[in-house]
Amino acid sequence: GETRQLSADTVIISSNENPLGPAKSALDAICTTAPLGGRYHFDETMKTLTVFNELFGLPKAGPKQPSYSALFPGSGGPLDLALMSNIGPDKPLVYGDPSYEQGFRAADAMKAPKFPVPLTATYAHDVKAMLKAHPSPGAYYIVNPNNPTGTMTPKEDIVWLLNNKPAGSVVIVDEAYHHFSNDESCIDLVAKDKDIIVMRTFSKIYGMAGLRAGFAVARPDLLQKFQTVSPAGRSLASISITSSAGARASLLDKDLVPLRKKINSDIRSETLEFLTKKGYKIVPGSQGNMFMVDVKRPGKEFQQAMLKENVAIGRSWPAMPNYVRVTVGTKAEMEKFQTAFVKCMDMAPG
Ligand code: PLP
Repeated sequence: GETRQLSADTVIISSNENPLGPAKSALDAICTTAPLGGRYHFDETMKTLTVFNELFGLPKAGPKQPSYSALFPGSGGPLDLALMSNIGPDKPLVYGDPSYEQGFRAADAMKAPKFPVPLTATYAHDVKAMLKAHPSPGAYYIVNPNNPTGTMTPKEDIVWLLNNKPAGSVVIVDEAYHHFSNDESCIDLVAKDKDIIVMRTFSKIYGMAGLRAGFAVARPDLLQKFQTVSPAGRSLASISITSSAGARASLLDKDLVPLRKKINSDIRSETLEFLTKKGYKIVPGSQGNMFMVDVKRPGKEFQQAMLKENVAIGRSWPAMPNYVRVTVGTKAEMEKFQTAFVKCMDMAPG
């Protein structure tokens, strides 16, 4: 969006990207693979699926065993397929508020009734209220850690929802920010053949937002259902060999996640400590690469003031109009953010 027309020295902490970019291991794999790009290499995707399935204890895919995972260019496309193949005019969508907007946008596209459910006091998805929202939804959408708050929904709550939800519905758990958190993933529930679809992306901790790679993880029949979303369901799964190789190298790079997780949590803690000490109000409990802060005026207005200071921050949500979302950048970027933030907060609103 707007951040792409900015000057070269603008701090970009608006889209929950990773300022570190792709890991060296991923770049090496991409460079080795690029010269082979004249051919399709249909086996390339299968190599990455095999690594993923092995890492997560999912059944090994083969001629008689369809894969429990599917590789896509990013996770936004398959998220649409996961949503759209399960919702419709008589199959509503139940989702958290505030949360990632792609859920209700897919519902709009499918003319599916929408049931937003406010987060709890600790900014978790309120699974009890989500269950009560409608007797027979098509899907429940849970973002964990949540976007924009970075807050967690306990895994036992998701398990409870899976065990108590009506038959014929699915729980879609979007784990785009999972690697930054301390909690357990829900992918093991896929191997237990539950009605769950877990989304993963390489756009966040792996720093490959522009390179595009992501996974949908689910029972083969649920993945098969993606193809009923016409016409994109079939063609969307085609990913470049460079992105596939970069994703695979990232998965196999043992140091990458722990190192980047620590970098993110250290810088996030320092930033939140600064804001809290200065008396600003933040949403506590973020385990993501983002946080929300109360700017005591319409978020859009504050976002524009910050832009004048060469700092591009994220948007606000209708449920929290006076809060803005800020991505955790590098240490140097967050120092620039802090200076600009104090300056803009000191200016009178309006
Ligand atoms: N899900 C969540 C919660 C996100 O925040 C994003 C992007 O910001 C996506 C999915 C889609 O990202 P991508 O298509 O790059 O994987």
